[in-house]
Amino acid sequence: MCRGVTVFVFSLLLAVLSSCGTKNKVSRSQVLLSPDLRSGMHGGGLDSNSLLIASISVQSDTIKPSKNVEEEYTEDPLALQKSMGLYKSADFTPAMHYDLRRPNYVIIHHTAQNSVAQTIRTFQVPHSKVSAHYVIGKDGRVVQMLNDYDRAWHAGKSKWGSLTDINSSSIGIELDNNGRDNFPDAQINSLLILLDTLKTKYYIPQLNFIGHADIAPTRKDDPNINFPWKKLADKGFGIWYNPEGLVDPPASFNPIDAMKIIGYDMRNPQAAIRAFKRKFIVSDVSVVLTDYDKKVLYDLYRKYY
Ligand SMILES: [Zn+2]
Repeated sequence: MCRGVTVFVFSLLLAVLSSCGTKNKVSRSQVLLSPDLRSGMHGGGLDSNSLLIASISVQSDTIKPSKNVEEEYTEDPLALQKSMGLYKSADFTPAMHYDLRRPNYVIIHHTAQNSVAQTIRTFQVPHSKVSAHYVIGKDGRVVQMLNDYDRAWHAGKSKWGSLTDINSSSIGIELDNNGRDNFPDAQINSLLILLDTLKTKYYIPQLNFIGHADIAPTRKDDPNINFPWKKLADKGFGIWYNPEGLVDPPASFNPIDAMKIIGYDMRNPQAAIRAFKRKFIVSDVSVVLTDYDKKVLYDLYRKYY
């Protein structure tokens, strides 16, 4: 049905252009990209990207006699990239083997709002300038709001390792939570199933499932302190330590360097330490690393890095 609708819209577009007496050129990119984008949609269906690409791909300044559509695709195969992503000083010769870039991180948030409906409204009003790919309700309902391949606006100013444009490489998942409550089992179970799908589909490494507070420790504290990071790590999403195996780190162990290697932005060490302790220690979220905290950090460091 999805393909049929897209073909219909595509045909309609051509018919409208033709009836207007113009000789606009329609590029192959809408045909190449639309099926890939559609495949990333939750449950399929015609998405806004298909229409957007269709509209971008029409180049009104290209006046050419109408020919066989396939011939025109061959002549100008990458009109979308030409208009948006080309280096002007280079000669352009298209390669024929490519696909879409995949997300490589998952960032978990809490909404700090009172309902899924409220969050959906927030992501749909023009002035909010925020969005996420998924919203998961307390009852386990999963709502997808953007294609996985789209760049959602969920990370804000953030840093993880050397990565600074995290929106470009991540999926954002919002959990309906007011910032204080526990996360019900139904919600976490749905999250785990979604994470498993994303991990498998996009080959996302275990270490790349992290929280908003990890990447923006001076601004954010989500998901809140009740979030079950250990349960996620046990399933292969994110990291956890072995409380029975903790040992004193050697004298040469530098905890600040270890946190940096894990990914934390240490320009504000206190904020990073607080984020680390809210996630791994929980019972004590002071901004100083105790001997116990250093053992936990050393265990994580040895185990994963
Ligand atoms: Zn957040």
